[in-house]
Formats: sequence, structure tokens, C-alpha cells
Amino acid sequence: MHHMTLAEIARGLADKKFSSEELTKALLARIAQLDPQLNSFISLTEELALSQAKAADARRANGESGALLGAPIAHKDLFCTQGIRTSCGSKMLDNFKAPYDATVVAKLAAAGTVTLGKTNMDEFAMGSANESSHYGPVKNPWNLEHVPGGSSGGSAAAVAARLLPAATATDTGGSIRQPAAFTNLTGLKPTYGRVSRWGMIAYASSLDQGGPLARTAEDCAILLQGMAGFDPNDSTSIDEPVPDYSASLNGSLQGLRIGVPKEYFSAGLDPRIAELVHNSVKALEKLGAVIKEISLPNMQHAIPAYYVIAPAEASSNLSRFDGVRFGYRCENPENLIDLYKRSRGEGFGAEVQRRIMVGAYALSAGYYDAYYLKAQKIRRLVKNDFMAAFNEVDIILGPTTPNPAWKLGAKNSDPVAEYLEDVYTITANLAGLPGLSMPAGFVDGLPVGVQLLAPYFQEGRLLNVAHQYQLNTDWHTRTPTGF
Ligand code: GLN
Repeated sequence: MHHMTLAEIARGLADKKFSSEELTKALLARIAQLDPQLNSFISLTEELALSQAKAADARRANGESGALLGAPIAHKDLFCTQGIRTSCGSKMLDNFKAPYDATVVAKLAAAGTVTLGKTNMDEFAMGSANESSHYGPVKNPWNLEHVPGGSSGGSAAAVAARLLPAATATDTGGSIRQPAAFTNLTGLKPTYGRVSRWGMIAYASSLDQGGPLARTAEDCAILLQGMAGFDPNDSTSIDEPVPDYSASLNGSLQGLRIGVPKEYFSAGLDPRIAELVHNSVKALEKLGAVIKEISLPNMQHAIPAYYVIAPAEASSNLSRFDGVRFGYRCENPENLIDLYKRSRGEGFGAEVQRRIMVGAYALSAGYYDAYYLKAQKIRRLVKNDFMAAFNEVDIILGPTTPNPAWKLGAKNSDPVAEYLEDVYTITANLAGLPGLSMPAGFVDGLPVGVQLLAPYFQEGRLLNVAHQYQLNTDWHTRTPTGF
């Protein structure tokens, strides 16, 4: 049962081959058996899952249908879930039960999904390895000594290990696409504003975007359909109609113009990944696509700009965690300043504290122009590069990551080495563009992803290209040994 995709589950439920309750019980048992190896969940929500499954079965018995009705999923633990711990991977929020559901959670619940639990993540979504979680690192099911990527490492490891068919995730600088690449999944970061951020604990508000992690593009289309849409509660949500993503999967790729940026193939890229990227280009060419070399000249400035903007926004967003209103509070504070200092000093982990300090510095009076303002100007240049490129091509293709998943602990002593791993994903967040990572082969037994980028609101185009690729390749069907 656990090998089924969301699309297969929807068909099985519609054909009454099994009930959502049976499927939910089977997956909960599988999680109990296998997750101790992976640590992909922070909380399990068995009772909620069983009641949602029964309710979905009852709705089907009453003649309702829908691709997500009765489908088991999990939420990254930064989506607020009413009455359920929403930790954001932090000691700061270990005791926090959200008083309301995030829009994404509410929309998916209304569509009939079954929430199996809340998945592990880097603390406050800061990281590329899922090692900064207060709840311990997540292991990569392809090799338990390696990281699953971050910050949505729990969602990725759980789906890759077939503990469930799909999960929600978020992407501020790559946290959907990079763990997808590291665990052989398909992950989609939508256009900024496509999916509501209401009830999603903020890291960097101008970059954060929720999206689906699943095994196939077809499943990402199904899950995105349930997540996307205008939300008056999120002032950056965009009031654009949501197209039927599943309907766009089967478009022909004949004449599709694919741009491959020459800057992507620099010294930092593992040559074995470069080769797999070229193979994916050839596969798409066979399907009728036309390949063109393009240039994104400002790409080299993206990492420094991102690592000013994201910490700046984080330092502001995280100021609300002060030990007063919610979350961790230190023991016996001597006075108000002591309460602030010790609650934040004890509640936040090292990486979060580092980012708050960097961000507060970049925003401080004497340095704002030199760092934050400069970074914003670079952000515009990065966006302009993409706008120019999309005048010539329909899709941009390249590697998702410069290297495959590294060993646990390998980059712990050098945060900047980890920041550099985000080089291919971060630009889409700076520009607000949609991006998708899809499985494209293996290096030393570890999965490799290829990234596709498209113009604003062209999620359907990304899913179409990935689906056609997946109809003609079988990388996405490979399963990690032992799972
Ligand atoms: N690795 C990036 C960071 O640490 C991106 C994380 C994310 O997308 N949430 O900021």
C-alpha cells in the first residue's frame, strides 16, 4: 500500500479497493516501525488522522469525490495546526500549540486530506541539511549517514522512505527543491504569492513560499491544487485564478524553448552532476524541446545578497519570540531585560542566533545602506536577468544543487560552506519565480535533481515538462533500499 502515489491512492479510493481508514492505519504502522531510523517526524497526530480518515470515507460514501479526499499527508512543522504543537524545529516553540490552522492546513483539510503528523525541519527553516533542528537531525533514507537536505528534510525523508505519499514544505532559498534533489523526489516552489503564507511561521517574509513535496510531478499538481489560491489574510497573496494543474500535465513539449545558463557550469559544480544535467537536456530534446544557451550574469551576487536579506527579515520576524507572549520562557528572570536575554539565548539554537545577529547588524543605522540596500539592488538585478532570459526561452534548466547530499556533520564547522550549496536555488526566491526539482539520476548511490524555472505563475508549465520527462525516464520510481 505504501508504494502508491497520490494519484494511485485517489483511484484506489474511488474504486473502493481500500478505505482511507485502512490506508491511514497501514501508514501509521509503517511510520512507527521505520521512522526511528530517520527522525522525520516531530509529532504524530494519530487520533486526528483516524478521525479525518473516517470522515473522508463517509464523504466518499455520500457520493463526494476529489483527488485529495482521504489522502494521507503530513505538514512541515511550521504550518500552524490548531491545538497541535507547532514547533518550527525550535526549543523556543516546543510548548507552542497553535490556536488556529494555517490557510494551507485548512484548505487541505477541507479537501479531505488526512494529517499523519508534523515533520522535522531545520530550526525556523534556517539550513540546508536539517541538522539544526532542536529535535535532532533527519537521516537520508538513501544513505543513513547522509543529510536529507533542508530545511524541509523531515517532509522529504518521510516521502522518500514511502512513509506517506506527499507532504507540505516551504522554500525560502531552496528548502523544497534541495531536499527533493537529495532524496529523489519532485518538489515545487510556487510563484511568490501563489500559496498563502498565513499561519506559516515566518522566516524571511519576502522569500518564503509553501509548496508540495511528492514523488512525481503528477502528485505535485494534485497537492498544489489544494494549497494554491488567493487569501485575504495574507497581504502578499495574489488574486489570480488557480488553473487546473493536472489538466496541464500532458501538453506536448514540441518547440518548447529551454534555456541552459552558462554560469551554472562553473568550477563549483560536481562534474558527475553536470553530466546528469546534460542527459536530462538530451531527454527533453528528444521530446521536441529546443535548447539554447543563455546567461544570468548577476547570479554570482545572489548568495551574498540572500544571506543579507534573509537574516535581516529573520531578525525582525523573530523579535516576537521574547519569552513574554508565547513559547519558551527562562526560569526565574531577574527583570525584563534578563527575561528577554535568557529566554532568547536559551530558546534559540546557534544558527538562528547567528542569523539574528547578522540581520540586526545589516539593518542597523550605520550599515543599512552598505548591506541591506545594496542587497536589495542586487535582488533587482537578479530579477532583471531572469526577465531578459524569459524573453528568449520558456523554461530555464540546470542542476538543483552543486553536490549530492553530504555526510551528517560534514559542514557543521563552516556555515558558509553550507550557504554556498544554495547557489542554484536562491535566485528563484530573490526573483519570486516558480521552480521545480525533479529526479535525474544518481551519484555514488545518492540522488541528483534537475531544476526547472519558469516565468511567474507558470507552475503548470513546470509540472508539464517534469511529467513528460517522468513518462520517459524512471529515476523518480527508484526506491531506497530498506524502505
Ligand atoms: N538554506 C537556505 C537558508 O538556510 C534556505 C532555507 C529555506 O529555504 N528555508 O536560508
